Amino acid sequence: MDELARVLISEDELQTRIRELGREITADYEGRAPLLVGVLKGAFVFMADLARVIDLPIEFDFMAVASYGAATKSSGVVRIVKDLDLALAGRDVLVIEDIVDSGLTLGYLKRNLLARNPASLEVCALLVKQGLQRDDLQLKYVGFTIPPDFVVGYGLDHVEKFRNLPYVGIPNNL
Ligand code: 5GP
Repeated sequence: MDELARVLISEDELQTRIRELGREITADYEGRAPLLVGVLKGAFVFMADLARVIDLPIEFDFMAVASYGAATKSSGVVRIVKDLDLALAGRDVLVIEDIVDSGLTLGYLKRNLLARNPASLEVCALLVKQGLQRDDLQLKYVGFTIPPDFVVGYGLDHVEKFRNLPYVGIPNNL
């Protein structure tokens, strides 16, 4: 893939950090069976790797959201394209996000999921862009804080391409 200008987070760095997150989540949820809620499509790669380093009887569900507006910027208006299959009442829900930019998408999602009365609701985001979010997002688990550039790879796309890269990179020519 020579379209990529440079690697921002290598495969090794990703996997090392994900193992740490897995250990932290395993310890924090000891004795419980959290429900991992993946936000499609971007979180599917991260969720698959993270889930395999969590040593708990976890369950899975998925949600797909789409934001209206330009392709590379969130408008904050979010539409649920695919809703969850499972009920959240009484569950320890851990939302798995690929990337938080403005935080508008996640803010909407959290409000929506909290209304379904989970026992707890936390967020694990692989990437958070520096300095752009409101404080009230309360991200419990964060993989990496990155500069505010547009990134692809490891689940993240540009017009549906690059999701299968095993690393996070900054593409050329956008
Ligand atoms: P937010 O609502 O936090 O501004 O944007 C979150 C969503 O915008 C993410 O779930 C993702 O779909 C998209 N997004 C934000 N920044 C990037 C980026 O750098 N690369 C890619 N591929 N998507 C991004």
